[in-house]
Amino acid sequence: MRILLTNDDGINAAGLNAARRALERCGDVWVVAPEKPRSAAGHAITLHKPLRINPWPATPSHRSFSVSGTPSDCVTLGHDVIMNGECDLVVSGINHGTNLGWDLTYSGTVSAAMEGAVIGLPSIAISQEVVPGHTAELKHDFEIASSILVMLVEKLLDDPLPSFTLLNVNVPFGAVPDQFRVTSQGTRVYLDRFAERFDPSGRPYYWITGHPAHDEDHRDTDVNCLKKGLTSVTPVQLDMTAYHLIEQVKGWQPG
Ligand code: MN
Repeated sequence: MRILLTNDDGINAAGLNAARRALERCGDVWVVAPEKPRSAAGHAITLHKPLRINPWPATPSHRSFSVSGTPSDCVTLGHDVIMNGECDLVVSGINHGTNLGWDLTYSGTVSAAMEGAVIGLPSIAISQEVVPGHTAELKHDFEIASSILVMLVEKLLDDPLPSFTLLNVNVPFGAVPDQFRVTSQGTRVYLDRFAERFDPSGRPYYWITGHPAHDEDHRDTDVNCLKKGLTSVTPVQLDMTAYHLIEQVKGWQPG
C-alpha cells in the first residue's frame, strides 16, 4: 500500500514523524509536508507563486519531501507529482493540538485530509490533544495516537467508506490505548478572540487568541468526547449541503 502522509505543523514536527514510523507498518509511506508550520491554513491552495519540492534529508527514508506551500498543496503535489498518481491512502497528522467542532473549517490538518477525499482517496486526519506543561509525556501519547491510527487504517482498508468522505480523529491527553468513540462534529465557539497590544508609536495591533466557550451541547460530539478523555472518531463528508433547508429555500423561488 502506498500512503501519502502530510500535516500542517511542518516537516519537522514530532507528530508527523511518529505517524510516519507507525504507518511504515502498514505500507510504503511518502512524507510530503509544508516546509514551515501552516496550522490554521484551512483549505488554502497556492495560486500566485511557484511551489518548490525539496527532498528532506533529516529522515532515513528517501521518500520525505518538504513543500513551500500549504497542507492542501502538499496533498495535490504529493499525489500528482511525487507519487505519480499512485496512492492508496492520505493521512494528515499527527497534529499537535485538537481539531474539534468548528475548528475543522480552520484546520490545515483536516483540510489536507479533505483534499485527499477530493481526489477520491480514503483519508484520515488525526490530532493529539496537547496539555500545557505535560510535554514530557507527549511522546507517550503520540504512541497511543499512532497505534489508534494504524488500527483505523486497517479498518478503513477492510471496510471501505464511500468516496468523498474522511475520518477526523482526536486523541485526548492520557488516552486509553486502542479504544475510541464514534462522534458527530460539535460546536466550538471561542471567547476573547483578540488580544490587543500597542506598538512603540502607540498604534494598536492584535493577536488572534481566545479560549473555547462553555457549551450546552450534550450530544455525542467530538468536543464532549474529548472532555471525557476518550478518543473521538468523526466521519466527515465533503458535501456541506444543508439538505433539511432545501425545501424552505425553494419556497423563496419566485412564481
Ligand atoms: Mn497544526
